[in-house]
Amino acid sequence: MSKVLVIGAGGVGSVAVHKMAQISKVQPEIFSHISIASRTKAKCDAIAESVRARTGVTVDTYTIDAEDIPALSALIARIGPKLVVNLALPYQDLTIMEACLATGTHYLDTANYEPRDEAKFEYHWQWAYHDRFREKGLMALLGSGFDPGVTSVFTMWLKKHKLKTIRTLDILDCNGGDHGQPFATNFNPEINIREVTAPARHWLNGAWVETPAMTIRENFDFEGVGPKNMYLMYHEELESLARFVPEAERLRFWMTFGDAYIQHLTVLQNVGMTRIDPVIYEGREIIPLQFLKAVLPEPSSLGSTTTGKTNIGNIATGEALDGSGEKTFYINNICDHEDAFHETGNQAVSYTTGVPAMIGAAMMLSGAWSGEGVFNIEQFDPDPFMDMLNRHGLPWQVKELAGPLQF
Ligand code: NDP
Repeated sequence: MSKVLVIGAGGVGSVAVHKMAQISKVQPEIFSHISIASRTKAKCDAIAESVRARTGVTVDTYTIDAEDIPALSALIARIGPKLVVNLALPYQDLTIMEACLATGTHYLDTANYEPRDEAKFEYHWQWAYHDRFREKGLMALLGSGFDPGVTSVFTMWLKKHKLKTIRTLDILDCNGGDHGQPFATNFNPEINIREVTAPARHWLNGAWVETPAMTIRENFDFEGVGPKNMYLMYHEELESLARFVPEAERLRFWMTFGDAYIQHLTVLQNVGMTRIDPVIYEGREIIPLQFLKAVLPEPSSLGSTTTGKTNIGNIATGEALDGSGEKTFYINNICDHEDAFHETGNQAVSYTTGVPAMIGAAMMLSGAWSGEGVFNIEQFDPDPFMDMLNRHGLPWQVKELAGPLQF
């Protein structure tokens, strides 16, 4: 039996549960039973109903505040899953890890812990749990989404099959989708805006180089999307890649944003709506960014109107494995918003995160990846994960480029 409990009923949780249900029909030994728990049970029920209608598989649903460790531990003990898949928000990572330790359950997530009062996403809080997970014989897998997640698996696949060493690595994240709204974020607005408004940081010759947010821009022609402006940003996999690809001279992360998104964000920042410190409004404290989230469209509501494609991948330059000198490879996935919606009822940003979360869970539950302690995705054999990407909706392609990026 390999029961799984998913926590979080947003777009990512929805995709992961739909994909787990698809697999449970053909390989019940991997996902023998699926439960989903979240703060709002009605959202879990809606996902369970969609899964039942699409696949015939029954998913059990529960309400839970994942920051309440005793309540969460009691729920996990009652359900008895082998693995908890955390698809709630980064704020809940540590409490869910505590409940997994208390109940002897393996753990997986897609985004590293962030304290609420500081937009500082770093791995050290979760790496600090390594010995406690190891002592209990448990495994925690961090960052099994697309970025972080697939982008790190892509890197390790290139290191295994194409490049002996990686000198430079650029991760290019393009969402070429159009949701028809003047302004909306394609995953949780609070987390998305905290990420985008944080200073940019890239790794250069063994140190972090910090630049103001959204100030370094390049234009890149993405297959399936066309030319887009992309901006240098900090993204959490740069920290784990700097650790697990220690020879890299330079690691950068780029994300595309349209002019309308930048204009809206600039105004919102200028008027103080992206602040994460409390302000007093009508006698009570509110966090402006949390209020903004409440008035923006829910990312999970954008699926039915979103058209276009995402194109996310890595360009890596280094010494070729076959001894033929320095080579540059581009490895990426292109995902269609409408196809993703047709299959799961969610747009491609949720899809490209939920599928790798399911695959990471399958790696753990099937025993393809195992270990005792806290691990990043770079620490495992990329081949079985890459194989499942091809078979479960996120096919990838790799090609050699004429030379390194010119910027
Ligand atoms: P959503 O905001 O759509 O969903 C989050 C869900 O978590 C909601 O159902 C929410 O409940 C629930 N939740 C929030 N707080 C609690 C709590 N205290 N207890 C229980 N449930 C809670 O987010 P997404 O689905 O877009 O994203 C989910 C996660 O995936 C995030 O951590 C995000 O950072 C990560 N992500 C990772 C990516 C990657 O490539 N690695 C890319 C995109 C996202 P309620 O509905 O009641 O608010």
